[in-house]
Amino acid sequence: MNKTLSLIIVIAAVLFFSACKPKEKLSENDVLTDTAAAVDFDLEEWLKNYSEAIQENPYRASYKRVNDLLHTKLEVNFNWEKQQLNGKATLSFKPYFYPTDSLTLDAKGFDIREISLLTATGKSPLKFTYDTAQVHIKLDKTYTRTEEYKVFIDYTAKPEELEAGGSKAITSDKGLYFINPLDKEKNKPRQVWTQGETQANSCWFPTIDAPNERMTQEIYITIDTAFVTLSNGLLISSKNNGNGTRTDYWKQTLGAAPYLTMMAAGKFAIVKDKWKNMEVNYYVEPAYEKYGRAIFGHTPEMLDFFSSKFGNYAWEKYSQIVVRDYVSGAMENTTATLHGEYLQQTAREMLDGDNEDVISHELFHHWFGDLVTCESWSNLPLNESFATYGEYLWREYKYGRDAADHHLDGDLSNYLREAVYDQKDLIRFYYDDREDMFDSHSYAKGGRVLHMLRKYVGDDAFFASLKLYLEKNKFTSVEIHQLRLAFEEVTGEDLNWFFNEWFLAKGHPELAISTFFYYSEDTLSGDFIDITIEQKQDTSKAPLYRIPMYVDIYHGKNVVRHQVILDEQYQTFTLPVVGGKPDLVNVDAEKMLLCTKEEEKEESEYIHQYRFAPLYLDRAEAIQKLALSTDSIAGAVIFEALNDKYWKIRSSAIGYLSSSEGLSKEQIKAKVSDMSLHDERAAVRASALKYLVKHYPEKEMMLVYEKALLDSSYNVSGLALGAIVKMDKEKGLGYAEAYEKSTDAKVLVDVATVYMQYGGREKEDFFVQGYSRLIDPNDKYSFVLLYSRFLQRTDDALMIKRSLPFFSNIAENDNAWFMRLGGLQGLAELRDAQNQKAEDLKSSGEVLDKAAHDDAIALRDQISGIVDELVAKETDKKVLRYLGVGEE
Ligand SMILES: [Zn+2]
Repeated sequence: MNKTLSLIIVIAAVLFFSACKPKEKLSENDVLTDTAAAVDFDLEEWLKNYSEAIQENPYRASYKRVNDLLHTKLEVNFNWEKQQLNGKATLSFKPYFYPTDSLTLDAKGFDIREISLLTATGKSPLKFTYDTAQVHIKLDKTYTRTEEYKVFIDYTAKPEELEAGGSKAITSDKGLYFINPLDKEKNKPRQVWTQGETQANSCWFPTIDAPNERMTQEIYITIDTAFVTLSNGLLISSKNNGNGTRTDYWKQTLGAAPYLTMMAAGKFAIVKDKWKNMEVNYYVEPAYEKYGRAIFGHTPEMLDFFSSKFGNYAWEKYSQIVVRDYVSGAMENTTATLHGEYLQQTAREMLDGDNEDVISHELFHHWFGDLVTCESWSNLPLNESFATYGEYLWREYKYGRDAADHHLDGDLSNYLREAVYDQKDLIRFYYDDREDMFDSHSYAKGGRVLHMLRKYVGDDAFFASLKLYLEKNKFTSVEIHQLRLAFEEVTGEDLNWFFNEWFLAKGHPELAISTFFYYSEDTLSGDFIDITIEQKQDTSKAPLYRIPMYVDIYHGKNVVRHQVILDEQYQTFTLPVVGGKPDLVNVDAEKMLLCTKEEEKEESEYIHQYRFAPLYLDRAEAIQKLALSTDSIAGAVIFEALNDKYWKIRSSAIGYLSSSEGLSKEQIKAKVSDMSLHDERAAVRASALKYLVKHYPEKEMMLVYEKALLDSSYNVSGLALGAIVKMDKEKGLGYAEAYEKSTDAKVLVDVATVYMQYGGREKEDFFVQGYSRLIDPNDKYSFVLLYSRFLQRTDDALMIKRSLPFFSNIAENDNAWFMRLGGLQGLAELRDAQNQKAEDLKSSGEVLDKAAHDDAIALRDQISGIVDELVAKETDKKVLRYLGVGEE
């Protein structure tokens, strides 16, 4: 695949799971990265369309407040057959400021049976008109802002019948989701759950669906007695109706925006935990009950930590639930966070990476997002940049600065990848689709900007300002200015410059840095150093930045810190130096700048930086630069880094080994073999194993691989299996067959990886059966593509034809956009493989075997027809963008 294409793959991966927490596992997934090559794509055309589309965006005003929704009471039950909700809503209002005689509510695709005014004496019907998106109600009189009134609505919500652009049901914003509603799908539980953000809760209850609205709520959920339910606030009562149903009554007495309302029901095990005297519960499928504590167990400690920094957790309880076929990563519904199924992991799976960042992110929203809410989606960074930085803060507190700064590194890459094709204001009032706000600007860039602000004002001022911001604005919605004002009040300093540069403008500094040391003849004035920095960004598009930063000057272990303020395009700072030529001049010594940089620095300085500069980002940068060197001393430092205290450095150093000189092959082999078996971190053992497979394909390594096959990490054992089958096909297939019946999803994916390349046609059954045993969308996505690749190797046209409904069913019906994309990719690859087969049957334009050639063409056209039909039905912009089908 080509480089430009990989960019787009990354874009799609970054957009993956957009509603609250973008989940980026797929970006690390090699399968995704190589497969897209099969999809027709014109990058230039795409970029052109895309940049045109973003230039023409309209201004997005905050929702105009006419009536204030004070309280929502819902009584709901479900029609599983039709996937509908029957609801009775009692809503309390008062005019926001000006008197009014009418009320407009968001209510998408309902059947409305009745709308009445509720008074002390009973109900009196109100006149209304309904356009299937909003209902316009004529009140009985004009109300003033001191007068409350109540409206009753009897309705049916029909999320499956919602239309998107004249096409079929919207899969990603229908608000209410029935999973396996008729219990016909094997291995899948029946569930119902909701997803409100951004404006989808009005698909299941009438409301003012805007982030600057705020209400208290009660929900009565009537459901099969076998199910448990979860909603916001506290479970006040649970009443058995004696007819096989039960009514659970949930009540939240603190106001929150309507998009944060949720419900979920299904057969969950509830793992009970607590923080102080508050309930902290984890709802998982019964099979994962025993892992509940391992998955969520740090939640009480996070509550403690965040409360100590930002004021006590404000809400009545904290529950988290994991549901099937979720359309996003996770959602911070007030007191009831909802997660996708990927969160359910066994203890062994967690060795290859857990989801603690997601858990801290959603919890942090309960201060930034739920307690203080962005006034409009234009201000979304006030929710998402904070939640992203919450991940950093938790890591820093729990695991130290290295683990936290590793997160910063990831944020920078995420933002820069997006910045290649799209740069925009962080707070942006002009956008096409509000869903577009959930991008790497709002998350990754914003998180880094908050980190810079912290480094500028200092920790004390940073936390005091945020505490003040929360205290002043709690239970209200805010714009970016409220944040600035809180910082200004605490620090006593005008901060417009910082907020204008970073929140209200686009782009980032592109710095060129060089240093020059001068010996002075004059012993009185001493030696000095010139540090010259140029801001090379195009200042017609991005600001000329004012950047305060630190410069550390090293002589051995001794460090002298200076602060400089860069505020010109081309600027030289002259700093005094004592002790001769420094061993290292470390510009941006806190490594906090959100920028790209070219730095003129000697190799010896990077060596010094690796050994003496304190931060993960110092060491990571140093070995990355040293890897470019062929010098033996640089090689020795990389070898040294194999013992770094932080795992990511050890893992990166393995990758850099091949380019370093001065180390014997035997020395490297011994060290890396040892790491592949004994490093404490699974990710490092995996990197070591990958390195060995690539560089030491000798038979004698089989012993290491067979030991690694027994590793506690699935990632490591899967790599070992791949290595073994590559060196000894029979042996590897033998191991794979022994694992075929495993109940573990990760093992199935490993086996599929082997069969994709080496399995005979008798493995068809394994693929057909295996898929239904998977839960995690990452596994499912991989498996779909592995199955397609397995089929691409076969000459059995019937087998391929048998498989087509499998792929098209996923491409058409899966809830998750990337799964539908996976189904389409699987088909597109099969189509292209047939095309290639037909090409291969030609020599100098002449067809060698006409029958075989025509068969391949016929099959190619059949699959091509299916792909076209599926693409025409697809409405999700992310899938279409990925396929290069255009904006709308
Ligand atoms: Zn979020």
